[in-house]
Formats: sequence, C-alpha cells, structure tokens
Amino acid sequence: MSEAADRATSAGEAPRIGMLGGTFDPVHLGHLRSAVELHEALALDRLHMIPAPQPPLRGRPQVAAEERLALLEAGIGDTPGLYADDRELSRTGPSYSADTLAELRDEYGASARLVMALGEDAFSRLADWHAPERLFELAHIVVMARPGHALKPSARLEELIGHREVADAQALMRSPRGGLLRLTLPSRMAISATAIRNRLQQGQSVRYLLPAAVERAAVARRLYR
Ligand code: ATP
Repeated sequence: MSEAADRATSAGEAPRIGMLGGTFDPVHLGHLRSAVELHEALALDRLHMIPAPQPPLRGRPQVAAEERLALLEAGIGDTPGLYADDRELSRTGPSYSADTLAELRDEYGASARLVMALGEDAFSRLADWHAPERLFELAHIVVMARPGHALKPSARLEELIGHREVADAQALMRSPRGGLLRLTLPSRMAISATAIRNRLQQGQSVRYLLPAAVERAAVARRLYR
C-alpha cells in the first residue's frame, strides 16, 4: 500500500485516490488546473496522472511516451497531491484504463474510494472503451466539464450510466466504486493539446497555455516542430 493509503488508513478513513489518464501530448494547464481543482473538490489523498504509451482509440501520439512523461513530471513539479505515474509505460500493447484501475485497486485495497476522472469529450466515447462496465466495477467515474465539449450521451452510454449518477462528492465518497459524478470545476479552460501542437508546429506562442517548465523543455528538445 502506498504512503497516501497508509496515512489515510491510519486516520481511520478509507483512502481517496484519483486517476487521470491521458495522452498528455503535451500536458497543459487545462490538465493541471483541473487536476488541482479535482484533488481539492474530492479531498483526494493522491491523484495519479498516467500517460498512455498507445491510447487505443486515437492515432499514434506525436512524441514518445518517455518524453511525455518527462514533460508531465516537469509540469507537476512540486504540486502537492499530484503524482506522475509511469506504470503504463512498462506495459506492452494498448493501454486499457480497466487494467490500470485494477492495479490501483489491488494497491490501495477494497475499501479505498477510487475515482477515474476524465473530461466530457473522453467520457462521451466511454461506451467504445475496452470493458466499459468493468470500469464501474473497479472505480467511480467523475466527468469534468470542458469548454466546447457539451455532453450528448449516446444510447449505449445512457445504458452504461443507468442509475449511477449522484449529486455531489459527499454522496460519491460513501462507497468505494460504482458511482458517476459530473463536476463543473471553478476554472474551466479551453486549452487542448491539439491546439498547442499546432501552434508549436507553426512557430506561434504557447506562453501561459502550459507551465513554463514544460514550454522550456518542449522548445529545448525541439518537440512538436
Ligand atoms: P488532444 O487535443 O491531443 O486530444 P487533450 O488536450 O484532450 O489532447 P488528453 O491528454 O487527451 O488531452 O486528455 C487527458 C484527459 O484530460 C481527458 O480525459 C481529457 O478529457 C481531459 N482534459 C484535457 N484537457 C482538458 C481541459 N482543458 N479541461 C478539462 N479536462 C481536460
């Protein structure tokens, strides 16, 4: 069990653990500010930010997984509660979130409040993911509002959601898994990695769209040119 789990368990409460997976090609302030506000809104002990080497439902990322992880580490810096987690880098084949959640569940134990967070754009495609029902058997799902990505659930997604939706974080945290919460975090940001890659490719400024350390590293390594 991790240090965070030890601490929470010794305080007599089940640990609250989040996972935010992504391509992070590259990580930006839309990810990082959402991560901080999610950590706060759910009173998480730790939020694992996990780059996928090969996300199953999209084209090959532009930059190698190790580079994306290094940018994520630079972006997180010393931010309390956020953790750049490299566990998917050692896996071969596609990166399935269900496998990652199963690992986290094993590490933190059956009573841990385990949350998989994702933006509305990613959630709208959830029914196409590998073993989507398994996600709810392992964790709660928290959907973060994202500017320009209003959610219109398909019939298959509606079916998957069923009666899982709860009104607030308190209701979600009453059980270790199986719930759905939609959250509108305070600082929604219309920032996407696609727009950042395009800007870098065209030699345009990306200042204040990503952390200064990430901008420096991307420029120094001539990434996304
Ligand atoms: P791309 O433009 O390459 O598709 P992206 O900016 O959507 O990338 P991802 O790495 O694909 O970034 O996103 C990882 C997770 O973070 C997804 O669940 C996504 O919905 C969420 N996310 C990304 N950007 C934001 C944002 N600005 N606000 C809230 N959630 C976000």
